[in-house]
Amino acid sequence: MRADCLIIGAGPSGLIAAITAARRGKKAVVLEKNRIAGAKILASGGGRCNISNSTVSPACFNSNPEFAVKVISEFTSKELLSFFEGLGVYFKEEALGRIIPATEQAVTVLDAVLLECAALGVEIKCSEEAVSVKKEGEAFTVKTGKAVYSSSSLVIAGGGIGYKLLGNSQKGAALAAGFGHKIVPQRPALVPLKLSGSFFHRMQGVKQEAAITVRTPAFERTYPGDLLFTSYGISGPCAMDASSLGTLPGSECFINFLPGRKDTAADLVKLLKTRPKMSIASALSGLINKKGVKALLSELKINPDGTSKDVSAEEIKSICKKLYNWKIEVTGPKSFDDAMVTAGGVEVSEVNPLTMESKKIRGLYIAGELLDVDGISGGYNMQFAFSSGYVAGKSLD
Ligand SMILES: Cc1cc2nc3c(=O)[nH]c(=O)nc-3n(C[C@H](O)[C@H](O)[C@H](O)COP(=O)(O)OP(=O)(O)OC[C@H]3O[C@@H](n4cnc5c(N)ncnc54)[C@H](O)[C@@H]3O)c2cc1C
Repeated sequence: MRADCLIIGAGPSGLIAAITAARRGKKAVVLEKNRIAGAKILASGGGRCNISNSTVSPACFNSNPEFAVKVISEFTSKELLSFFEGLGVYFKEEALGRIIPATEQAVTVLDAVLLECAALGVEIKCSEEAVSVKKEGEAFTVKTGKAVYSSSSLVIAGGGIGYKLLGNSQKGAALAAGFGHKIVPQRPALVPLKLSGSFFHRMQGVKQEAAITVRTPAFERTYPGDLLFTSYGISGPCAMDASSLGTLPGSECFINFLPGRKDTAADLVKLLKTRPKMSIASALSGLINKKGVKALLSELKINPDGTSKDVSAEEIKSICKKLYNWKIEVTGPKSFDDAMVTAGGVEVSEVNPLTMESKKIRGLYIAGELLDVDGISGGYNMQFAFSSGYVAGKSLD
């Protein structure tokens, strides 16, 4: 079968690439290995699809932030929302600038995209995995288990490796590598973290606002948000946002349990002084969760039943250090099956951010999560997928 452009992957990046190309009069065919298109759109944001964010900056991306922002500036959050308004979908803004459909249903977004594909004559071939790709002369040939396709432009938008159930695939990276593209090793991101030690066991089930700082000799980044203690370590937005950089070799991670307070030492002295006869554990229980107090005192080998007046200046110092800057031993991320995005992927210096065209192969475009770009939670990954797909669809011949 012959098309003007073939698109591998019916995720947000592939689908918008197809729509954009078809609006320019191109015959677009999308190959999707899943039984349905857009599985991750449906699952995103807990079924509510956090599609974008009102504030996009380099700080919202862990890998290659400048590249990500350059691509998004070619098709901004505003442009994405007006693209969807044109399809009859409206949005609202929630806390932290998160943008979700007014219906609060991800299916609204997917339905609109699929209806537009149908209206434009975009063919979406589900249950067809692209198994091999080659370019001969000016033509690309893609083989699936069912057919052979050819086109003058090819978009690889195969996504990442996360969430097997939703159609994860390593094939996209393999196909790009087959064209000579460098693949930065892929690893789970936006994923819970496994810890060694015992304090988190004692805090299992505790959820509290915190901030995690990731430090390496080269950089320091802090991720605020809710933190959840589990049987294996930590989860919640704060831990997930920190996971991409926090699992890199050489990274050190620290929890601040009181990110909103200015002078914990002064607060602590006041708490203990005004309650001299109270047990230390009780005196501290207004600061952080009770389970956290117990875990903290046990780590520091301070008797929780000792009275407040007997706490030494040295102990106050060490309690403060733990509250502000508790070093945790991250043993690794949970698996790809738990990872909302994939860090690593196609090396971005080999792709033009203004067109998404490969700098190695003319007519080849690479979009979405397959690239070495990963954002924190808040709608940035969807926005990047849609922006890069749009740019590819607008640029291809
Ligand atoms: C549970 C969950 C919730 C999420 N929530 C949010 C959120 O609220 N906001 C946000 O910004 N991000 C969210 N994300 C991340 C976001 O969904 C992804 O970053 C985004 O879908 C990436 O889009 P994509 O088009 O690049 O890839 P994908 O959406 O992964 O699409 C790629 C498609 O390519 C197909 N494919 C792969 N290889 C082949 C092949 N060889 N042949 C044919 N087809 C192939 C796959 O089956 C897949 O359908 C979430 C992710 C998960 C897993």
